[in-house]
Amino acid sequence: MRYDIVIIGGAIVGSSVAYYLREEGFTGSIALIERDPQFSQAATTLSLASIRQQFSIPENIRLSQFTLKLFRQLKETFGADADIGFREGGYLILAGEAGLRILKANHEAQIAEGADIVLEDAGQLARRFSWLSTEGISAGAYGRGGEGWFDAHALLMLFRKALRERRIDFITASATGITRQGSRVTGVALDNGETLEAGIIVNAAGPNAGKVAALAGL
Ligand SMILES: Cc1cc2nc3c(=O)[nH]c(=O)nc-3n(C[C@H](O)[C@H](O)[C@H](O)COP(=O)(O)OP(=O)(O)OC[C@H]3O[C@@H](n4cnc5c(N)ncnc54)[C@H](O)[C@@H]3O)c2cc1C
Repeated sequence: MRYDIVIIGGAIVGSSVAYYLREEGFTGSIALIERDPQFSQAATTLSLASIRQQFSIPENIRLSQFTLKLFRQLKETFGADADIGFREGGYLILAGEAGLRILKANHEAQIAEGADIVLEDAGQLARRFSWLSTEGISAGAYGRGGEGWFDAHALLMLFRKALRERRIDFITASATGITRQGSRVTGVALDNGETLEAGIIVNAAGPNAGKVAALAGL
């Protein structure tokens, strides 16, 4: 079997890579390899499944904003039944005197990207959160919108379901080897004895990505 793109790991990163390849108009063949289609050990399903805008670099903030837009358009994207139980609730990140400079710098980066985060001093925080002891707190950054939590397994299943209509071959197997010709990867060996020829391999193996890279000698 030959595929233009072989994706190793079918959880949120692998499945969304396959999904957006099709959304962007890629018409070549795609195989999505997953060793555990129940996702019992995937970071995706074991995560806390929260989304925040409070990062320190623009790239991370933009990734979250891209995902937030998807959450807000979930039903238009995946159908009227689509529901990931998204509940908006802001992160509250606190700093004492020592962390104040970093908190302010992060806040400036977030505001520059249009994130709805407020920076408040201890007095303002005490008025907003009556339960909060502000002893030792200089300031806090709070997400007024665009942050919260959701059902990551449900989100993953929406991507996987959408992929079934997009000509993706789902392969249940473990990738156990990667072949190379010089600096190019050429194929993936599976634990069922098959080998897939590959134009491009995407390593979406999550915490196992280092081991998968090592299969290619990287
Ligand atoms: C405790 C915890 C809490 C977290 N909380 C959050 C949070 O609140 N918000 C947030 O955004 N992120 C959170 N994260 C991070 C987030 O879960 C990960 O960034 C994200 O799920 C990574 O997705 P992934 O698809 O890359 O990896 P995974 O979900 O781990 O998927 C990798 C997949 O690759 C498969 N695989 C691995 N090796 C092979 C192989 N050789 N052959 C075939 N298949 C293979 C695995 O079976 C797995 O299904 C958290 C993570 C953890 C662990």
